[in-house]
Amino acid sequence: MLQQTQVDTVIPYYSKWLKKYPCLTDVAKANEEDLLKMWEGLGYYNRCRNFKKAGEIVLTDYAGEIPTDYDGFIQIPGVGEYIASAVLSMSHDKPHPALDGNIMRVMSRFLKKKTVSRYNKKVIHNHIFNWMEFGSPGDINQALMDIGSQICKPNQAHCYKCPLEKSCLAAQTKSPESYPATKFHKPIPNYDVVTGVIWEHDKFLILKRDEKNHLGGLWEFPGGKIQNGENHRKALAREIKEECGIDVNVQSKIGSIKHVYSHFSIHMTSFHCVFKKNTILKTTQPNRWIKPDQIKDLPFPKANHKLFAILNKQGWHV
Ligand code: SF4
Repeated sequence: MLQQTQVDTVIPYYSKWLKKYPCLTDVAKANEEDLLKMWEGLGYYNRCRNFKKAGEIVLTDYAGEIPTDYDGFIQIPGVGEYIASAVLSMSHDKPHPALDGNIMRVMSRFLKKKTVSRYNKKVIHNHIFNWMEFGSPGDINQALMDIGSQICKPNQAHCYKCPLEKSCLAAQTKSPESYPATKFHKPIPNYDVVTGVIWEHDKFLILKRDEKNHLGGLWEFPGGKIQNGENHRKALAREIKEECGIDVNVQSKIGSIKHVYSHFSIHMTSFHCVFKKNTILKTTQPNRWIKPDQIKDLPFPKANHKLFAILNKQGWHV
C-alpha cells in the first residue's frame, strides 16, 4: 500500500484491510472485486491484484509460508527489488539495502553524488551494504528512510539535527539540497473524454476495465477520448457505438470533472443517454446493468466518484 503513496493516506485503508482480511489466506480466498472495492481510491490497483495472486501462490506453492530467501521472495507477484529488500531486512535482518526515493536522496547527499545514475546507485547500494556488517540491516534501512522523510527533505536539509552530519559530504557545501540535481519533469498530457450514463428503465450500463490496462478491474461508464474537431455529443455517440455496438440518444449534460493521474490528467464530461432498442449490446468487456444504489458494492475509479457526487446532488435519472 505504501508504494507511491503517503503514510497518512494509507493508514485508514490499512486498518480497514486488516480488520476484514487479517491473514494472507483471507486475501487469497477473497473475491477480487471485494478486494478492489476496499482498495478503491488508493490507486495503482495492480498492487491489489498482485497481493491476491501473491497470497494464492504462497498458499499453493509454499504451504502458506512466505519465502524468506531473496531469490524466492522476489518471484512473488508485486515484489520487486525494493519490496524484497525492505521486507527481508526488516523482518529477517537480511543485508539488503532498500533504495527508495528517501534513501537515494540521503545517500546522494552523503556521498555528494549529483546524478542518480545506475553506477551511482550501485555505489550507494554497496556503501549501505558495508554499513550493514556493523548493525541491524532492518534498523539501518529504517533509519535512513526516517532521516530522508524527517530531516533530509527534498527542499530543505536540516543538517544540524542529522546524525550523519559529521561525515556527510554535501553538508560541507553551501547547498546540500542541490544533491542530487532535480530531474526535469515533462508536463503531463491532458485528455478530453466523454462518458455516458446509458439508461434502460431504472438501470444504467457499466463496463469493467481490462486487467492489463490502467485502473484494470474497476468499473466505469462507457465513453472515451474526443477526437480532433468533434463535439462532445458526437464523440460520445461514436465511442459508445465502437465500445458497445449500440446506438444511443445523447440527452442532458450531467457535468464535467477534472482528475489528475500520475502520468496524465483528464477533463471528463458526462451525459445521460438512452439506449435505442433496435441495436444489440456487443462488447468484449464484462458489463452490467445496475441501479444507482449498487455503486457501493463495486469498485470504480476516483474520477467516476466525482461524477457520482454530481449525480447524487442533481438526481440520478434523466
Ligand atoms: S547531513 Fe544534511 S545533507 Fe547530509 S544527510 Fe544529513 S540532512 Fe542530508
